[in-house]
Amino acid sequence: MTEYSDMIEQKRKELLAEEWARGVRSSHIHKLSSMWYDNRPQDTKNHSVMDIMYNDLSIERRLHNGAIVFFNEDKLTGEALVDEWEKATHNMCVCGTVNCRTEYSCTTHGF
Ligand SMILES: [Zn+2]
Repeated sequence: MTEYSDMIEQKRKELLAEEWARGVRSSHIHKLSSMWYDNRPQDTKNHSVMDIMYNDLSIERRLHNGAIVFFNEDKLTGEALVDEWEKATHNMCVCGTVNCRTEYSCTTHGF
């Protein structure tokens, strides 16, 4: 029954990753049209906006008039989302080591 329990484990991870995906990674209020994901320069022409990035890298933008738009180009789904969740929740370094002693240099200088 190994395959069956692998399937259950995979499903469990997906559910946890999807729950984690809705967490807020960062948010900021700005008036820039130069963000890498920005294809709506009109939003910031005369007003500030608030961009909220979620853990799955989807971005929600609140405009000055209360309208909400989404940038989902880089949104993580499926395997990519589970991978990212595993890195984030198991404290995995970019080099693939858990609790890496050289995480700072792995992150800033590559590995
Ligand atoms: Zn490392």
